[in-house]
Amino acid sequence: MTTVTTMNETDQTNSEKRSAYGLTLADWQREMTEVRKLPKFRADQIMKGLYCEQKTSWDAFTTLPTSLRAELTEQIPIEPMQLTQENPSRDGTNKLLLACPSDGEKIETVLIPSKGRMTQCISTQAGCAFRCAFCASGQLGKSRDLTTAEIVGQVMESIRLLTVQNGSFMRPSNIVVMGMGEPFDNYDNVLRALKILNEQKGLDIGARHITISSCGVVPGIQRLATEGLQFELSISLHAPTQELRRELMPVSRRWPLDELIDACAAYTEATGRLVTFEYTLIDRLNDQPQDARALIALLRRLPCKVNLIPLSPVEGFPGRRPEERACLAFLDLLMKARIPTTMRNSRGRDVNAACGQLRLRRLKEELPPQGGKE
Ligand code: SF4
Repeated sequence: MTTVTTMNETDQTNSEKRSAYGLTLADWQREMTEVRKLPKFRADQIMKGLYCEQKTSWDAFTTLPTSLRAELTEQIPIEPMQLTQENPSRDGTNKLLLACPSDGEKIETVLIPSKGRMTQCISTQAGCAFRCAFCASGQLGKSRDLTTAEIVGQVMESIRLLTVQNGSFMRPSNIVVMGMGEPFDNYDNVLRALKILNEQKGLDIGARHITISSCGVVPGIQRLATEGLQFELSISLHAPTQELRRELMPVSRRWPLDELIDACAAYTEATGRLVTFEYTLIDRLNDQPQDARALIALLRRLPCKVNLIPLSPVEGFPGRRPEERACLAFLDLLMKARIPTTMRNSRGRDVNAACGQLRLRRLKEELPPQGGKE
């Protein structure tokens, strides 16, 4: 189902068709000094032009020699994502459908404003192989991994849009890797992209403002624990027992709940960072007092935080949103057990905000009618 490989940074750069948003500062420094025998400061000029000034053509880099601009245009093009659909919600959330420059593959990203913050939820794969029960992204399976440049490109396209809307430069303050795809199923490209977004000489989005969310790919958690990075980790848990989790999250057949919690405890011990568990409340499926008690017993094994999210309707999943009373009673039990817990509303409910819904709808529109031939 997944591969969490080890791969050094240079290997990754060479194996992926090179695109300007796919290179870290260290890559640009190597490219300038070792490959092109140019001074190191050229790398800083490139980072500044790409990320601080949002230039989208090498011709606009007037501080670079003309010959270098021509070479880069040919060899490492700047390839912006194409905005194909914008779905603003009444609550301010804006869901964007973007087309990848290489093959037109559609992916989603969501901008979520809240007091003084602009959070962007980004995708890491086109579709997803993990097929969690209430997620639209998994319904048609995985089409492909996104490249580093496509992951970074989502943020660059949002910056372009936000800057136009705002009248001056504006970038997301927070990034959550919770869109389409399982980030640890595309580990190298995702980590490289997050390092680029975090780069001080680029967008400089603080590591603690970047959250990676996994459905429970244990080798990815174990590998992240060794990286010495400050990114936040959240786990989509959604069930307090292995029996229920097997049904809701097929990933649990490969990495059972006990193994997942052990990996999270080891992660916290190794990094000193708390894991956040996301728990979607579904009417009479996992929202009862006995479910809350089972969750409390499970999470006794490690210090952690919990986010409760009442289900938003998803096409193809019959579960219902619980009554507010049930949600509050669940929250109360966790708080009494001294587990730091917050209740979140999924934003943009009027515009198919749940992960993958917009892409799924678009793909269904593009498919020929069942049984029909074109
Ligand atoms: S919730 Fe995440 S891991 Fe699960 S199917 Fe959706 S995108 Fe994939």
